[in-house]
Amino acid sequence: MEDRINELTEQIVKRFKDSGFDVDAKEVSKRLKLLIFEFKVPESEAVRTVTNYLMKELDISREQLVAESPLVKIADITTPGKWVSLKAKVVQLWDATSPNVSQVGLIGDETGIIKFVIWAKAGKGEVEEGKSYLFKNVVTDSFGGRMQVNVNRSSQIVEIDEDVQLPPRELEVVGALIAIQQNSGLIKRCKLCNRTMTKDICPVHGKVEGYDDLRIKGVVDDGENYYEVILNEDNIRALTGIGLNEARKIAEEKLDRNAVLTELKTRLLGRYFRVVGTRGERYLIVREVEFLKPDIKTIAGEIL
Ligand SMILES: [Zn+2]
Repeated sequence: MEDRINELTEQIVKRFKDSGFDVDAKEVSKRLKLLIFEFKVPESEAVRTVTNYLMKELDISREQLVAESPLVKIADITTPGKWVSLKAKVVQLWDATSPNVSQVGLIGDETGIIKFVIWAKAGKGEVEEGKSYLFKNVVTDSFGGRMQVNVNRSSQIVEIDEDVQLPPRELEVVGALIAIQQNSGLIKRCKLCNRTMTKDICPVHGKVEGYDDLRIKGVVDDGENYYEVILNEDNIRALTGIGLNEARKIAEEKLDRNAVLTELKTRLLGRYFRVVGTRGERYLIVREVEFLKPDIKTIAGEIL
């Protein structure tokens, strides 16, 4: 048990030393023993209590203390089950779908954006969209093939006085269009709110007048990630020559609005594109799109 106390003492002393502060090892050891042996406090609680005491004594903030887990960038998070610390900004919060989850959403730094989950059991205060925090001692995890970080009881979230930058919102993706959603093609939108109507019904305004629009909601796969993309009329016309008028003509000729979707699927599905767009909450709103023209010289070079 003495060995364990020495170990924990060393740990605490080193952490303060790394942050540029000298603490008295005897004092640390004495307090640990008291908490663990006399008061039967669990080790991790004891370490936290002594650390808090020392911070108060030395009048230093949490931010001045080096995180126990290595400070990493989001792009470096590639394997599950690692304890890390990171500085990140809350990009957006989603509705938690489980009572076990207190908050869920996306956080980002200049290297990337990652999903985060704060477990209800962690007993942490809430984070706010747009604010930057030091997420200390969070655990990396993999869920549905994507990395995420989990905030648990041993983690700390400290708001920081620093505006963490996010990766450029404009994104270029080169990949194959692997899916086109049903509510694509020649669609109708509500005249009042522009929402997509289903069978002439606006989800908000009910049966109202609508107007025609042409769009594709699809999925581009670049071999590493899936991107949900939205192509507007201009994008679609640039690729296929089919604009709103041409789409209406197809629908009239076939007496079926869905014929437009079928035609677009035939022409575009499975083909490779270069897409430039803005990353929204969920979709990549496409600004520029073109068929990928294979660079013959490069391909020839690879073959030779
Ligand atoms: Zn509406």
